[in-house]
Amino acid sequence: MFDYPFMKQNILLFFSVLALFCKGQNKPCATQMGSDQIKELRAFQQKLSLGEVSLGKKSIQYVPLKIHILGNNKGIGYYSIHNLMQTLCDVNEDFLSTGFHFYLTGSIDYIDDDDLFNGNSDAIWNRADAYKTTGAVNVFFHGGGSEWCGVYFPGVDVVFIKNACQGANATTLTHELGHFFSLPHTFSGWESNNTPLSIEKVDGSNCRNSGDGFCDTRADYVSVRWGCPLSYNLVDPNKVSFKPDSSIYMSYSLDACQTRFSNEQMATMRNNLQGRNIAKDNENISTLLSPVLLSPVNGDTNQNASHVVLKWSAVPGAFAYHLQVARFGAFEYLSADKLISDTSATIELYGKWPYTWRVRAFTAANTCTSAFGSASTFTTYESVVGMAEIKLEMDQLNIYPNPLNAGQTFTINAPAKSELMITNTDGRIVLITQVSQLQSTFFSINDAGLYIVSVNNSGSISRKKLLVQ
Ligand SMILES: [Zn+2]
Repeated sequence: MFDYPFMKQNILLFFSVLALFCKGQNKPCATQMGSDQIKELRAFQQKLSLGEVSLGKKSIQYVPLKIHILGNNKGIGYYSIHNLMQTLCDVNEDFLSTGFHFYLTGSIDYIDDDDLFNGNSDAIWNRADAYKTTGAVNVFFHGGGSEWCGVYFPGVDVVFIKNACQGANATTLTHELGHFFSLPHTFSGWESNNTPLSIEKVDGSNCRNSGDGFCDTRADYVSVRWGCPLSYNLVDPNKVSFKPDSSIYMSYSLDACQTRFSNEQMATMRNNLQGRNIAKDNENISTLLSPVLLSPVNGDTNQNASHVVLKWSAVPGAFAYHLQVARFGAFEYLSADKLISDTSATIELYGKWPYTWRVRAFTAANTCTSAFGSASTFTTYESVVGMAEIKLEMDQLNIYPNPLNAGQTFTINAPAKSELMITNTDGRIVLITQVSQLQSTFFSINDAGLYIVSVNNSGSISRKKLLVQ
């Protein structure tokens, strides 16, 4: 069985013991709701039964979100800012009906820690608390090899999300935030191949005392990831055959199937948020004008690649600036992708290449609608030191042999399905292809020289040098 993290916390379990989201994998995962949460949930569901809760739409609550981005001990593997910006927009869209609007609080917290990066449960129990910002929802993005995609740790009260499980339109974070605000799974009691004592019936006659305890979510017994509609029928205790509701975020249907929380779920989350007393009634959600790029001037050809200083104009109301730099203006391959709270940044690039850069300003509560301003271009010169300083390496990205001889076949193992690009030092693209996770892919290069191998995994780019002799 599993080393359940909650054993350490000695939590007495009454109800839904698992609260995990393993996207793309069928392995159940371990975590749970805390006993206090379960009591609160049960009490609130009692109020729902007694009709004491209005399920109508409530005013918008602005909820502070503290983002922590984990890297390994070498500072490799960060969740990309490009993905983070997308995720914040997606999550606010998912929570629109709930009346929750998340906003960024404080700067992005970058943490280099092998164990946390790998999603090690013991490390999370013991160390995550020290990084938390009180009075906010703390979300950690990690790159690790743990089996689960996302997990809410009660007690520590933090959410951990695996980078690879939170790309465009993913619902992993939405699901885990549901747990954070006290929601169990729709299939509560069935986790880890268990069968609950009381099985929820389709007619709703025992909906308050079985399953998730909500009466507006259909019975659900499926604790592995499933595509919608479910390919087989479930049978309830009355021998009624049915399919579970794939649209609910708190089920294990695939992300693309999920579109909503139920009314009772939304009321429950609002109740939990109220108890936390962390939300605000107002935040600046305006769309900001884009900053003016000041330096280097457009067309500048004299930038030291290892030390490029970029400056732009301040925009009133800006929480931060989103800076992107790309060779040849190909913004799908970002050389730099950063959130900067100031109006300048020093970045490290490489090679003698034309780079294009752009900046947008946004408020803490609106990362979505403010557009990038016009882009500007500069060309770098290569300092020998700069080339030697390329240190963006992903441990799991293996190239061998390296160095190798011209024409000799070499192998690349990528850590995940990725886009692979090989360029020479003039920036000429030698190869662009897709590589699969753990699959050896064979190539050869005929011209001797130094090459850069870039692997783009959902916007997270890693590079290694390859020497052909
Ligand atoms: Zn879950």
